[in-house]
Amino acid sequence: MKIETQKYVIGVDIGGTHLRIGAVNTDKELFFFQKNKIADILDSGNPIKSLADFLNGYIEEHVGVANVLAIGMGFPSVISKDKKGIHSTPNLECLSNINIVDPIQEYIHVPVYIENDVNYLLQYEISQRKIDKDEIVLGFYIGTGYGNSIYLFNQFLNGKNGAAGELGHIPALGNEMVCGCGNIGCIETYASGKRLVALHQEFFSDVPFEEIFTKYSTTPEIIQFVQTLAIPIVTEINIFDPHLVIIGGGVVGMKGFPKRMLEEAILQKCRKPFPANNLVIEYAEDTNAAGVLGASMNIFEKIAQTEITVG
Ligand SMILES: [Zn+2]
Repeated sequence: MKIETQKYVIGVDIGGTHLRIGAVNTDKELFFFQKNKIADILDSGNPIKSLADFLNGYIEEHVGVANVLAIGMGFPSVISKDKKGIHSTPNLECLSNINIVDPIQEYIHVPVYIENDVNYLLQYEISQRKIDKDEIVLGFYIGTGYGNSIYLFNQFLNGKNGAAGELGHIPALGNEMVCGCGNIGCIETYASGKRLVALHQEFFSDVPFEEIFTKYSTTPEIIQFVQTLAIPIVTEINIFDPHLVIIGGGVVGMKGFPKRMLEEAILQKCRKPFPANNLVIEYAEDTNAAGVLGASMNIFEKIAQTEITVG
């Protein structure tokens, strides 16, 4: 069904295995949300064309291109500083070293914005809360990899090249494992969904993967895994002394994930008395659509700022 009178932002959340897409109207209501397997959409030989075809088909089917204000896409990637292309996507190799924005804008004729996916996820959480403009919010998203977003003084920290917040790639002492980024010893090889899959295969294959925390949370392997997840979080908390910490991602969202154990590990390692005292830890909302909504909210903010500047 087409609703011709509404204007929409199309939000797209691209993860390692799935793509989520939805149309968000100016009242911030979500329509036509769907989740597809990346493998069903992206042709690794021609990722841009296949992505553009998919987006075009979605738009024509649901809202019509004339009613689209912009498209916002989050990628699990290091995004270029100019926000036009992708430098590197370790968990989705066909999306590395490519320009995204220009070819898709040429194809669909609407403004296209791209971001690191965790920035859009954290944008959603921020939009659900009242955050003062001098506050620091840190987002940690533990999924296939170790996603991180740093929100400082009303904006996301990008760094010189767009590669700020690559927290999963801090080196861990004595770790000889090869990381998806090509380096040896990144903490992500110990602290991520990929590591949990390996633990499952090695120690807990008698239960389905989804039950690993409900059945085995008190084993030494899982206790060590959870304590390792805390290390990058504490490292960044000790650097920024944040007002708010948001923790989310597929691993943390699994049934029976020992949140209390993670919080205790964070507090135990955190610098005393501060930032340990006063630390506020919250969990990302368990919604499939957070990345789609966050992308849309980020673009509505951009549109509002442009209107204020122009007006
Ligand atoms: Zn790495």
